[in-house]
Amino acid sequence: MRIVVFLLLLFSRPASNAAIDHAQLVDVNSTPGSWLTHGRSYHEERQSPLTEITPNNVGELGLAWYFDTGTRRGLEASPLVIDGVIYSTSSWSKVFANDALSGELIWQYDPQVPRAWGVNACCDVVNSGVAAWGDNLYLGTLDGRLVALNRQTGDVIWESLTIDPSRPYTITGAPRIIKGNVIIGNGGAEYGVRGYVSSYDADDGSLRWRFFTVPGNPNEPFESPAMKMAAETWTGELWWKVGGGGTVWDSMAYDADLDLLYIGVGNGSPWNRHVRSPGGGDNLFLSSIVALKPETGEYVWHYQTTPGDSWDYTATQHMILADLTIDGVLVKVLMQAPKNGFFYVLDRANGELISAEKYVAATWASHIDLSTGRPVETENADHSIEAKTTKPAPFGGHNWQPMAFNETTGLVYIPAMEGLAPYSTARDFTYLPGGHWNLGQSEGNTVLPGNQYLINAVIKRIFTGHLLAWDPVRQKEIWRVEHETMWNGGVLTTAANLVFQGTGDGRLVAYRADSGEQLWDTQTLTGVIAPPISYQIDGEQYIAVMAGWGGAPTLAFNLPGSSTGANGRLLVYKLGGEASLPEALGASAIPVPPPRHGTEETIVAGQVLYNTHCGRCHGAGLIGNGLLPDLRDMGHDQSANTPEVFKAIVLQGAYVDLGMVSFADVMSETDAEAVYDYIVDAAHARWEDQDASPLWRDLEAWFMDLVGALIAQFI
Ligand code: CA
Repeated sequence: MRIVVFLLLLFSRPASNAAIDHAQLVDVNSTPGSWLTHGRSYHEERQSPLTEITPNNVGELGLAWYFDTGTRRGLEASPLVIDGVIYSTSSWSKVFANDALSGELIWQYDPQVPRAWGVNACCDVVNSGVAAWGDNLYLGTLDGRLVALNRQTGDVIWESLTIDPSRPYTITGAPRIIKGNVIIGNGGAEYGVRGYVSSYDADDGSLRWRFFTVPGNPNEPFESPAMKMAAETWTGELWWKVGGGGTVWDSMAYDADLDLLYIGVGNGSPWNRHVRSPGGGDNLFLSSIVALKPETGEYVWHYQTTPGDSWDYTATQHMILADLTIDGVLVKVLMQAPKNGFFYVLDRANGELISAEKYVAATWASHIDLSTGRPVETENADHSIEAKTTKPAPFGGHNWQPMAFNETTGLVYIPAMEGLAPYSTARDFTYLPGGHWNLGQSEGNTVLPGNQYLINAVIKRIFTGHLLAWDPVRQKEIWRVEHETMWNGGVLTTAANLVFQGTGDGRLVAYRADSGEQLWDTQTLTGVIAPPISYQIDGEQYIAVMAGWGGAPTLAFNLPGSSTGANGRLLVYKLGGEASLPEALGASAIPVPPPRHGTEETIVAGQVLYNTHCGRCHGAGLIGNGLLPDLRDMGHDQSANTPEVFKAIVLQGAYVDLGMVSFADVMSETDAEAVYDYIVDAAHARWEDQDASPLWRDLEAWFMDLVGALIAQFI
């Protein structure tokens, strides 16, 4: 009798009390309905084993429920699903726990990130998600804290500051947890920081180890033998004063058999290698994949994708561990499609290169030499004397949006991008501390065409995006789907021959994994950049994705997904789902601009200053992106929008609580007034344009599209 009672107690125990341990994370297939860690497993393959949704019935998918995060900035999180609860994060590092069946909010947590810290985030105030261990969740906050939360209540268990708050570090990545080590990196290499990855004790938040990715002050002792080795590949002294870069801001993977943690390392600070390390050198471990022992942080091996990186070609992109049969032999590989345009297959036991081929256009290198493992640079790679236009752009052939690997098709699905950018070398580089980009490039080529249709047309032609199905064994493309915009979502694949991806133009789409045939799509009302996930409750399979437009190119450019103005949401679909989203918001009226101000000269000067200091967040050519204020809307409050009010905002930080910090350290009163003149001029151009007949506007857009296509041909 006692045994029966004991068994009853055992089986009636609420599943929500189950603590996450190492065995569960190593064997995620024993809980196929859950999503326990960032990339579903330590191998980060993002393939769900669930097969209820198939190519035959995927057309019946409908919205089960949605949750409004109340934010209008980028949503990049990969949610976790544990014991019937879905855990997601939003911009400004907020966490939400929702009932995965009904969508009901159970708890939420806001770490209260000071909005002024947003100026240190190169690529939006985003967050990739939480990690689970024991009874807790772990979150990295934009302002550099690691926070442990009780999974049932959202209560804070502990909090550790992982950064030097006097430097522009940010955390946007998701922690990974290996045997009670909470592993977290950070970002900030565009501004100037020294990269590292740290491990904190899951129980009490104490620092267990820290692995620096680039050497520090040469007058101080090396932190590790790896740093001694790395220091021999750097020259000059500017790099360590700026920081050197090499931030570990996103990808990690773990092989439990080899007991190796893999980290993806980012670009240099400054970008330009001639400024950063003027005597040359590979600059280890920039743009490298590094294998570490997860319990000590000890270096094991590295593979550098872009030696002496000068293009922001990070190797922080998603890494997938898989077992591939290559020339008849089963090999444990690590796969990555970093920004530099080559798809790499490495032996993950020792870091040796197996193969590498271009998955998008890349002009900086002709090929990767298989005997040395190094890229063979072209003449285009040298921008030391004159500026060069190079493919891919700093956005990369692939950015942070996760890929997926389907074991059955053997294909990797890459959110791929084509693009190009000018690269140059600053003659007299001056390091700007604080929230300013330090790229080491020469400024001055930053006057854009005045016509907004032309700007949009050129951007649309130069930067394109597609979903690419890639065979990693044969290193070749199998199929592709062209998208409306360059910037699209991460990918999910399932064991039922399906691929799911959200798009920048506001859809979630399902394809056959083997052929790329589109089977289903639905409107999401805002651009999707996050990767979908899948889970199962009571035998029903769900597809969940965060829909919220944002990220670096969406701040800089007016891309198609930016126009809807919808809030960011968690969307959950199931077969026969019948919920519906609220109506999309209409466009708001264009306000009357303030009186014209300044001269032709100050307007041109204002444009150059705007493109140098403001355009990365407020949009190229002053075309708003729906994320931050369109500055041409300044006429909304006629009495307030005078040069004096503008200067108070730009120079005195009047809007610092909203995230708009003072730029007084790089702009004078005359400068700020010139920017004002430029904005008012553009606001008048837009105001006058709305009086044109729709036919005339269509004609103008059509003509500028043609001109844009022509210009794009010659860039
Ligand atoms: Ca970067």
